[in-house]
Amino acid sequence: MTATAAQGIATRGYAYSGRDSKAEPFEFVRREVGPKDILIDIHYAGICHSDIHQVRAEWEPAIPSLYPMVPGHEIVGRVSRVGSEVTKFKEGDFAGIGCFVDSCRECSACESGGEQFCFKGCAMTYNGTEMDRATLTYGGYSKHYVIDEAYALKVNANEEDLAGVAPLLCAGITTYSPLKRWGVGPGKRVAVAGLGGLGHMGVKIAAAMGAEVTVLSTSPSKEQDAKKLGAHKFLNTRDPEAMAASLGSFDVLLDTISAQHDYNAYLALLGLNGVMVVVGVPTEPVPLHAFSLIGGNKAIAGSMIGGIPETQEMLDFCAEHGITSDIELIKPDYIDQAYDRTVKADVRYRFVIDMKNA
Ligand code: NAP
Ligand code: ZN
Ligand code: ZN
Repeated sequence: MTATAAQGIATRGYAYSGRDSKAEPFEFVRREVGPKDILIDIHYAGICHSDIHQVRAEWEPAIPSLYPMVPGHEIVGRVSRVGSEVTKFKEGDFAGIGCFVDSCRECSACESGGEQFCFKGCAMTYNGTEMDRATLTYGGYSKHYVIDEAYALKVNANEEDLAGVAPLLCAGITTYSPLKRWGVGPGKRVAVAGLGGLGHMGVKIAAAMGAEVTVLSTSPSKEQDAKKLGAHKFLNTRDPEAMAASLGSFDVLLDTISAQHDYNAYLALLGLNGVMVVVGVPTEPVPLHAFSLIGGNKAIAGSMIGGIPETQEMLDFCAEHGITSDIELIKPDYIDQAYDRTVKADVRYRFVIDMKNA
């Protein structure tokens, strides 16, 4: 690594050059560490299905894919340099980065800790630009990140647990935030649809909150794992009889499914006044029948990651409850295979890239 004030900090990572490309080594420059910035030596980066959607341009035109794209927004590492005005971190601390790295800091969303909804648009960790709207952001499949300390998270973990903490920065907060918002706790019947990266975190967190948790899955082979993760019940959604027997069974249904599926069939599993919270992003619009909502006073809601204060709260909650992600640690040369396996729902339950040794 070399650093000069004029050029910034030379680093390297893995980038995609287009929607059909493969991950390739990529050299680039991070900005120099400013007074409020920290430099993080990245140790681990999780692979979120959102990385795959964006690399493969599946969210266009809503979210354009900008190349070269260095994905990765589940980042943990060690602080190796701090700016002169930094107060939250010191050299040697562990730190995390989630889905965004800056925002306007002035609008009502930012002021209320909902920076992900910044009315001026926040700076996404990758596949976006900094607040200058010009400088492309590059994500965590890389050796270093420079970030304003206000947008970095404190990570309180043992070194051997660090790789399993990385997925909390997206999968953890994306499930924690709606579970909390919809009052999950003792006495609530919670269903988690899709047992992948988000889903397995949803199961662990909902169980830690004291709820009765059921996994809704298309993969019967995951039943034993679901129970080990903390689920009380398992429902194979491809079994029509099991589905019929579970109508009206849940108060909150967290939908983490990444592909097309019938919202109406899942809404039918809710009891009176139940809510289905959508966090998974099928790439095409999903038809919804009014009867699916009006029969039973049901609601459908959405949720997007979480702001900085709630993300810190989630990390602290997980540390307190001993919750980390179940991971498959990989080297960067396995990223493309990991993508293909994730799309086939064959991940147990998050791929994490070892960037420390890359
Ligand atoms: P993932 O690890 O691939 O998990 C998705 C799971 O969905 C699969 O493991 C599978 O579980 C299930 N599934 C896949 N295809 C299905 C189909 N055709 N029908 C029914 N179920 C199917 O993905 P992830 O990283 O958890 O992300 C899930 C989704 O959330 C993605 O769309 C991602 O972009 C989105 N996301 C949203 C936010 C947000 O803020 N709202 C944040 C992060 C990610 P089973 O094998 O158990 O069926
Ligand atoms: Zn994500
Ligand atoms: Zn704002």
